[in-house]
Amino acid sequence: MKKIGVLTSGGDAPGMNAAIRAVVRKAIYHGIEVYGIKNGFQGLIEGNIRKMEIGSVGDIIHRGGTMLYSARCDEFKTNEGQKKGINQLKKIGIEGLIIIGGDGSLRGAQKLSEKEFPCIGIPATIDNDIAGTDFTIGFDTALNTVIEAIDKIRDTATSHERTYVIEVMGRDAGDIALWAGLADGAESILIPEQPNEFPDVINRLRRGHERGKKHSIIILAEGVGSGVEYGQRIQDATDLETRVTVLGHLQRGGSPTAADRVLASRLGAQAVDLLLSGKAGLMVGLENNNLVHHNILRILEEEHMINFDMYQLSKELSI
Ligand code: ADP
Repeated sequence: MKKIGVLTSGGDAPGMNAAIRAVVRKAIYHGIEVYGIKNGFQGLIEGNIRKMEIGSVGDIIHRGGTMLYSARCDEFKTNEGQKKGINQLKKIGIEGLIIIGGDGSLRGAQKLSEKEFPCIGIPATIDNDIAGTDFTIGFDTALNTVIEAIDKIRDTATSHERTYVIEVMGRDAGDIALWAGLADGAESILIPEQPNEFPDVINRLRRGHERGKKHSIIILAEGVGSGVEYGQRIQDATDLETRVTVLGHLQRGGSPTAADRVLASRLGAQAVDLLLSGKAGLMVGLENNNLVHHNILRILEEEHMINFDMYQLSKELSI
């Protein structure tokens, strides 16, 4: 293999730039040419492809977002779209592709691999909702952003003796809510994997209030329902003044944490090594701090599991 490509796709995540940097530098280290594809699969279909040099990834390791930009592209879900993408790569002589993104992007990587175009996927999404890796790139940064926000809300919650519901990202996976809840000592955590906890939330609030507790923090993953509606239901059921904060897209941005930069650097470099050793159709990941790789098809069929021991612990520590 003499030429490889790299693209970022789907929702952006802090640390994607560090992964791009690792791919580019590791390829050049091996004497391979590397091409950046702008705007994800959309740019691939359109042939928006440029050669990258050592300097083109300078000064990006600490930046959030993705210098290659990202896009959502429905055309790429079709056979024709995928064939167009492969033709654009073949025109330049690119023989392998590294795709950085979430589970939708991994599906795209799988489709290309099925069409005999070698691809390696790198899991990058703040949701941490992909099987086969303990952490996805961006999760740690998002988590720290959420914690910083909750700490600030906690100050005002204490001053005003209020109950706060904080809605965080996580449609299918409650990882951000769970980890943030444990890290911030939340009274209750509502996650999609355990959606029927409303009575428990109310019981805890009542118990705390009887004990003289002045304020409470409840963290709700968006997949469970609307924070605004939950806030109203809580206020109606307890008569406690309840406020709601929806953290929204600020969870996606910001400079990546050290953990995300290191994870992205390790996964990016490993993806290049796998491609160069003739492997394809794989996703790289980290399990128990060891670099691993799994068949993408298997990863997509497997469900990401929340850590229920941690969920139980959060309940025990917030009695
Ligand atoms: P994420 O990668 O963050 O999960 P999306 O689910 O939006 O984000 O997927 C990103 C892109 O991946 C889509 O816009 C599409 O171009 C491509 N993609 C998603 N699913 C498929 C699929 N089944 N086949 C081919 N490409 C897909």
